[in-house]
Amino acid sequence: MIYTFSINTEKENMYDITKNVQKAVDESGVKNGIAVVYTPHTTAAITINENADKYVVMDILFGLNTFLHNRPEFLHDEGNSSAHLKSSLVGCSEQAFVEEGKLVLGVWQSFFFCEFDGPRTRKYMVKVIEC
Ligand code: ZN
Repeated sequence: MIYTFSINTEKENMYDITKNVQKAVDESGVKNGIAVVYTPHTTAAITINENADKYVVMDILFGLNTFLHNRPEFLHDEGNSSAHLKSSLVGCSEQAFVEEGKLVLGVWQSFFFCEFDGPRTRKYMVKVIEC
């Protein structure tokens, strides 16, 4: 089963979605396996990074914007090529092991939904595979 979640986003931000990923793991009943988190959008992404210091998220976004800002040379006429580039660079999925029904993450790690072209209502999916 694929668990689908909705999220209302701001223009650009990263949202800790770990609780919902764990919720999908809980509901799946899988005790040992892999949880895959995926987003079907071309200007958003999924990543795993630090959850303790909010400035890490701000620095990631600042860093991405430093070298992936919109440029007049871009051809895509929607005007959001910077967001497409960030989406491809960060990636549309992540995964983590599941052991004894719990996500195996580092103490400072969380799953994040990354919005690069909001505000929008987005979705992301979680599939938990027993193995
Ligand atoms: Zn576009």
